[in-house]
Amino acid sequence: MTQIAFIGLGHMGLPMARNLLKAGYPLKVFDLVRSAVDTLAGEGAVAAESAAEASDQAQVVISMLPASRHVEGLYLGEDGLLARLPADTLVIECSTIAPESARKVHAAARERGVALLDAPVSGGTAGAAAGTLTFMVGGEAQALEKARPILATMGRNIFHAGPDGAGQVAKVCNNQVLAVQMIATAEAMAMGVANGLEPAVLAEIMRQSSGGNWTLEKYNPWPGVMENVPASKGYSGGFMAELMAKDLGLAQETASHSGNSTPMGALALQLYRLLLKQGKGKQDFSVVQQLFVQ
Ligand code: NAD
Repeated sequence: MTQIAFIGLGHMGLPMARNLLKAGYPLKVFDLVRSAVDTLAGEGAVAAESAAEASDQAQVVISMLPASRHVEGLYLGEDGLLARLPADTLVIECSTIAPESARKVHAAARERGVALLDAPVSGGTAGAAAGTLTFMVGGEAQALEKARPILATMGRNIFHAGPDGAGQVAKVCNNQVLAVQMIATAEAMAMGVANGLEPAVLAEIMRQSSGGNWTLEKYNPWPGVMENVPASKGYSGGFMAELMAKDLGLAQETASHSGNSTPMGALALQLYRLLLKQGKGKQDFSVVQQLFVQ
């Protein structure tokens, strides 16, 4: 069976790698945080001391890192993985990064004859654990066909968004919508509660009405309205506010590149920057609720 290297075992990478293990793929894993590596080693993966060691003998390399600079640092340059991977390796890069950065890594891979896909995901940590992520893939269709069975063990919907970097463009569009919905839900929840409504009652009315959206369905930001969401666990786990701020920044860069006007995205970015200033960057992005509570 295909030997896979998995690099980056954070909130998303760890459960994604676990699903590959469950599907029977031989897996070598690496993260800068040793405890994450040890957790998966305890479940059957081979622990590596470096990304290079993890990808030794691998036919497929998957990475799930925070941002562009981590991805460029991993793959590019003399010490980067692309300088050492054999030409027939397939790289599936799942982090959310700048489309420009993804294109840079694509170009370097093509020069080396390595097939690479930018394959950011949506679905959150719950989707990663359940193996129901959505993959938005940029790159060549042939490489995607090779990757499909592997992606299918971690996700339910696999879209070919277009050429190099297209997966990242789709992802920043999606996350801009998500942030705007989260903020809109949070401010409405605060307004309703301040005017005497029970949070759970208001949440259910809006969920079933024309204000219904993903955050009301799956990720209500008001503590205690839903079980097992970050808001009900002190805003821990999930998707860090600092990563949402990063994605909104990427959306603004993407809009500037094409000259698009994105006022809602711009405002969302400003609100997330405020949260970061308040020291809430490591908490789940639904912590934006706290900006509106009176
Ligand atoms: P995270 O910070 O929890 O995990 C990133 C992991 O990468 C960390 O464990 C870190 O130690 C590791 N890392 C960083 N540099 C490394 C290197 N050079 N070598 C090895 N490991 C390295 O972040 P996350 O929430 O898992 O998100 C990962 C990516 O997925 C981000 O780009 C994020 O925007 C995106 N994303 C996250 C979610 C979510 O709900 N958390 C959803 C969709 C997409």
